[in-house]
Amino acid sequence: GVVAYAADLSKTYGTKDAIVTALDHVNVEFGRGQMTAIMGPSGSGKSTLMHCMAGLDTPTSGQVFVEGLEVSAMNQRQLTDLRRKEIGFIFQSFNLVPTLTAEENILLPLQISRKPIDRAWFDQIVKVVGLEQRLGHRPSQLSGGQQQRVACARAMMARPSVIFADEPTGNLDSRSSREVLSFLRDSVRDYGQSIVMVTHDPRAASYANRVLVLADGQITQDMHEPTYEQIL
Ligand code: ADP
Ligand code: ADP
Repeated sequence: GVVAYAADLSKTYGTKDAIVTALDHVNVEFGRGQMTAIMGPSGSGKSTLMHCMAGLDTPTSGQVFVEGLEVSAMNQRQLTDLRRKEIGFIFQSFNLVPTLTAEENILLPLQISRKPIDRAWFDQIVKVVGLEQRLGHRPSQLSGGQQQRVACARAMMARPSVIFADEPTGNLDSRSSREVLSFLRDSVRDYGQSIVMVTHDPRAASYANRVLVLADGQITQDMHEPTYEQIL
């Protein structure tokens, strides 16, 4: 199945004197229960594609759908609702709330959207990311890798339809990167989680089922179950 897709999606920035085409008539489907990596050089449109898919940015033309809902036709209130209910976010910079503990950070999205807390699910995720002994720590008391694992648990907690991860290993050493990527891959295998991940790193992309390459706002390669050598 398809969890999200873009149809003839274009995004331009600027005025008619100086137009930058970030996305140029992109058609793409993201598979349910798959991890899709989006690669490509800086400025090729990766972040813009992800932001349009997640309802963080408005397309200039074309359509975006998540779980059959037309994101590109939503107003701000509907977009906020969509991000809370259907989408999990993981950022390069972790984006944890510094004054809250790991546990409070993981539960925050549920509290904001006034959803019930499934304690069994919380315990399960915390165990999988290996944070049982760190739940009372604040972000400043955690390593980068631990902070990103908190962010992964936070993204999973509301059981989102799809997780968008923007350079999730960009600030991590290689060992922490492998831990975070292993968790993301396992969440696909064990829970059917759908993930779309932007990354510069071929090693990170090699954890994905599918690797797309963007260049100048267009998809130039679409590889299914590629080997590391094919990604390079
Ligand atoms: P990537 O994530 O692959 O580095 P981006 O999606 O950030 O690429 O950017 C694609 C193109 O759109 C680039 O030329 C970039 O400079 C331009 N761009 C992105 N965001 C903006 C913005 N807010 N205003 C103007 N141009 C932008
Ligand atoms: P980067 O991953 O490059 O460090 P950021 O994580 O700072 O970028 O943010 C990327 C974009 O996503 C920003 O426009 C920011 O406002 C938005 N954003 C950050 N956190 C959330 C969130 N929890 N929900 C919705 N949008 C967010």
